Amino acid sequence: MNAPMSTPRICHAEHMPGTVAQDAHVPVLIVGGGACGLTAALMLHDAGVDCAVLERDATPLGSSALSSGFIPAPGTQAQRAAGIDDSPERFAADISAKAKGRAAPHLVQAYAQAIGPALDALQARHGLQWQVLDGFLYPGHSVRRMHATPEKTGVGLMGRLANAVTAVDIPLITEATVRELWVNAQQRVIGVGYGRPDGTLEHLACDALILACNGFGGNPAMVRELLPEMRDALFAGHTGNDGSAIAWGQALGARLADLGGYQGHGSWAIPQGALISWALMMEGGIQVNALGERFHDETQGYSEASVHVLAQPGGVAWNVFDAPILALARSFPDFVDAEAAGAVKHCDSVQALAALIGCEESKLIATLASTTSASGQNEDNRRVFARPLQAPFCAVKVTGALFHTQGGLDIDAQCRVLGQTGQPFPNLLAAGGAARGVSGDAVWGYLSGNGLLSAVAGGYIAANTAARLNRQKV
Ligand SMILES: Cc1cc2nc3c(=O)[nH]c(=O)nc-3n(C[C@H](O)[C@H](O)[C@H](O)COP(=O)(O)OP(=O)(O)OC[C@H]3O[C@@H](n4cnc5c(N)ncnc54)[C@H](O)[C@@H]3O)c2cc1C
Repeated sequence: MNAPMSTPRICHAEHMPGTVAQDAHVPVLIVGGGACGLTAALMLHDAGVDCAVLERDATPLGSSALSSGFIPAPGTQAQRAAGIDDSPERFAADISAKAKGRAAPHLVQAYAQAIGPALDALQARHGLQWQVLDGFLYPGHSVRRMHATPEKTGVGLMGRLANAVTAVDIPLITEATVRELWVNAQQRVIGVGYGRPDGTLEHLACDALILACNGFGGNPAMVRELLPEMRDALFAGHTGNDGSAIAWGQALGARLADLGGYQGHGSWAIPQGALISWALMMEGGIQVNALGERFHDETQGYSEASVHVLAQPGGVAWNVFDAPILALARSFPDFVDAEAAGAVKHCDSVQALAALIGCEESKLIATLASTTSASGQNEDNRRVFARPLQAPFCAVKVTGALFHTQGGLDIDAQCRVLGQTGQPFPNLLAAGGAARGVSGDAVWGYLSGNGLLSAVAGGYIAANTAARLNRQKV
């Protein structure tokens, strides 16, 4: 497998350079300051365990800040207050159904159980206020359970997590790119070496390590090798996702899992480079190709839609919708930004829409007519809508993009990294995009929100495990 660009490596020794002094030791180290790493840090703080976060960037953002910041969770205080009946069992069933039973069952159970308490803890102890998104259901979710901070953006989510970390004085060491994992003869991680912008390498010792440095979406060579259908796709995530965790895992003899799993998105506006919410499709919008033809059932999910869009002429499609859907779309900050950037085109008639797309008018008229039917289904088994799309129309030119990878280090339900025989490493944990997710091993297994679910629930569980390891040591 192709190595990441920063060539992370494993160093075998009983001691590291420069860590004899006690101040160069932290009980738990966390590599990566995204949603996973910062959640883990806050939970460790609450458990009374000292930790530090090492983050390669000057500000902790990661893919989490590029995301919409939507996190699915059952049974939270916010969801109960909204009067929604849900349970971890129901959520787990939805996750498993989307992945057609191919998502790791132990993680599905663990994450579905943990995410509610995790969001409640972030709210009660660190002031993150959650609201449940209203008005539509994401594909595959049987009830409304998508949570967001009031900003409804990943930047808002990360800003609140980072403020919470600062408020309780957790050391957040930025511009620190972890390159080395130091491991002793018992396969215990004894610390890390991290590069500084001036080229120096510093070392920190630890009793346990949490890898929260996401996956390999930012490593084109690994994408070409492991996700060949996305080799030419745009990557909309954080370029620091270079596959470091996988490289360390391989060098240590760790097991990898679900490497073919990933989140794609079939609604990435071009040339603006912006996310157009899939809520538009769930509410009756459709995708047509350059020939004016509808080419898939949009309600199956935005992840697999990425592959369908990329298979169309020119690898592009048009999202077509009308005024009522535009009103809903404008409740999403991502969409508002995309509209401000000129992504949304307005057409008074089918003729104008056909001219914009460059297709035959008659073909487009037939396509639009086929989006409604009395039987509730058309001949292609694509969902049809009770209300026909009506002029004036809106259209956004989109392509399929890679958002993040869902395969990685194999972990148990406590987020302990597993070796080839299934035995956990003594003190190495992984969560979020660094570990395997709950989407199985294919693009269509991704249920909306599985990314931040793995990050936040995984960070919560990994912190609990690290705190337990810390107590056992004392
Ligand atoms: C456009 C877009 C929209 C999305 N929307 C959603 C959504 O609404 N809901 C959802 O569930 N998911 C969404 N996702 C997916 C979601 O963003 C990710 O699954 C999630 O952010 C992963 O969190 P993480 O903490 O594991 O990784 P990240 O947030 O990427 O954090 C990893 C951090 O590790 C740092 N790092 C990496 N390597 C090193 C190293 N060697 N040393 C030090 N630091 C390192 C990185 O700089 C980064 O800050 C979206 C993704 C994209 C791209």
